Amino acid sequence: MSHSCRLALAATLGLLATIGCDSTTPRQEPKEQDPSMEKRLAQYKTFRLTTDLGALSESERKMLPLLIEAARAMDAAFWRQAYGDREALLASIADPLTRRYAEINYGPWDRLADDEPFVPGVAAKPAGARFYPADATKAEIEAAAAELRGLYTIVERDGTGRLVGVPYSRAFAAEIGRAATKLREAAALADDPGLKRYLELRARALETDDYRESDMAWLEMKDNVVDIVIGPIETYEDQLFGAKAAFEGYVLVKDLAWSARLAGYAKWLSELQRALPVPEAYKRETPGSDSDLNAYDVLYYAGDCNAGSKTIAINLPNDEEVQLRKGTRRLQLKNAMRAKYDAILVPVAGRLLAEDQRRHVTFDAFFAETMFHEVAHGLGIKNTIDGRGTVREALREQAAALEEGKADILGLDMVAKLHAQGKLEGGTLEDYYVTFLAGIFRSVRFGAANAHGRANMVRFHFFEREGAFHRDAVTGTYRADFERMPAAIAALSEKILRLQGDGDYAGAQALSSEMGAIDPTLAADLERLGAAGIPVDVVFEQGEEVLGLR
Ligand SMILES: [Zn+2]
Repeated sequence: MSHSCRLALAATLGLLATIGCDSTTPRQEPKEQDPSMEKRLAQYKTFRLTTDLGALSESERKMLPLLIEAARAMDAAFWRQAYGDREALLASIADPLTRRYAEINYGPWDRLADDEPFVPGVAAKPAGARFYPADATKAEIEAAAAELRGLYTIVERDGTGRLVGVPYSRAFAAEIGRAATKLREAAALADDPGLKRYLELRARALETDDYRESDMAWLEMKDNVVDIVIGPIETYEDQLFGAKAAFEGYVLVKDLAWSARLAGYAKWLSELQRALPVPEAYKRETPGSDSDLNAYDVLYYAGDCNAGSKTIAINLPNDEEVQLRKGTRRLQLKNAMRAKYDAILVPVAGRLLAEDQRRHVTFDAFFAETMFHEVAHGLGIKNTIDGRGTVREALREQAAALEEGKADILGLDMVAKLHAQGKLEGGTLEDYYVTFLAGIFRSVRFGAANAHGRANMVRFHFFEREGAFHRDAVTGTYRADFERMPAAIAALSEKILRLQGDGDYAGAQALSSEMGAIDPTLAADLERLGAAGIPVDVVFEQGEEVLGLR
């Protein structure tokens, strides 16, 4: 599962007319700036992506501009997948703020507002973006050959009007050629043999539409400091079928100190599994301690991952065959998390938390909780205790939100237990509790349509009922109750682990409908955040100059 925290995907599914993206004309000449555009832009706080380049070798530093160039080619390819002709769109927009907003969104549709068009005269976004012909209906594509469903093809009409699949390597030959060239130049500089091999295989993968071998090579390399995630990867942009992979690139530098700390925590997984507050039957599986979990600073975001809301943790590769053979790698993007922490979490806490508790909101606690969320996905069980099959199958559309809720609460539980045993450096237990509470407010803003958003809503109401926090009606602020927090954490952990172990679909549905919606008091509190102009997401200043490489 990918933890991309994308917004409001389901809401737009199936609703959109299949009208071409190029219908951005007629060009309008606004007399004054669209007043709503300033508001839209203010949702994004600017953050500079940097890291300590002093930790890199000479050849690693020389690789960075090449990898950034390769990533830029993904930017160009993603524009074509999401919208069409980038230059034509930007040239057609007279207002500079609107133009800037189109760059952030990779098109004329607002990704934070259910893809509503924000450029005058633009039609609704096609659900299938540019992966399918503008005039093709869902039924027509479904009726056509299965080959059209490939991850790495776009669907076009041939001369006779028949639907055909065109491989990405052909459809995006120019962009792919640029990326492959730069990856090979970087490979020539790489001292780490694993990295050299991966970069060469990845260049070839782009040219052949066959990524498996390069995915394997990526998981096999362990000692590299510089890294790049590049290619067609996630399928969120194809809201018609979720079948087509969108181009993206992340240029990364591994945080060796944090990665070592993470490897240390993985040792405690079995012990934590045994200590879960449920009967034996619900914890008899062996936790996945072999997962490869590392922290990184991102130096460059390109394409899909840079469009609208920014990803701060990734879990790859998506190829299930590779997952079965080699597992996955979880990447925690530390400087991007810092960006969201500074821009969003701190101001949220400043509005909604009791004044004397605000000092307990710390970046270390936020980072640790995000990290332990990932580790906690490995706890609990994947199969129902009656042997019926997987928890995922049993819980159907409830599965994702419950699994996210599990990872959040067990992650906090792990933090508390490791802290009590003196195994967790830095911070107090109060820091973790209060930062966690602030994190709930940050996440419920994503809305109940999003798995993470709904999980947070359930937790909010569950904690409220258990008295883990109290709301002061006069100030409208919330105060964590340190005494009652542990019992609330244990109760919610038990509740979720039992629902999963029992494969209790009706129970999961009941929990979600009982506690997964926003009530008027919370809605009003969240509205105060919007009115105060607290950003929803971040946008990056990035590249060679920001890094001082030019
Ligand atoms: Zn997760």
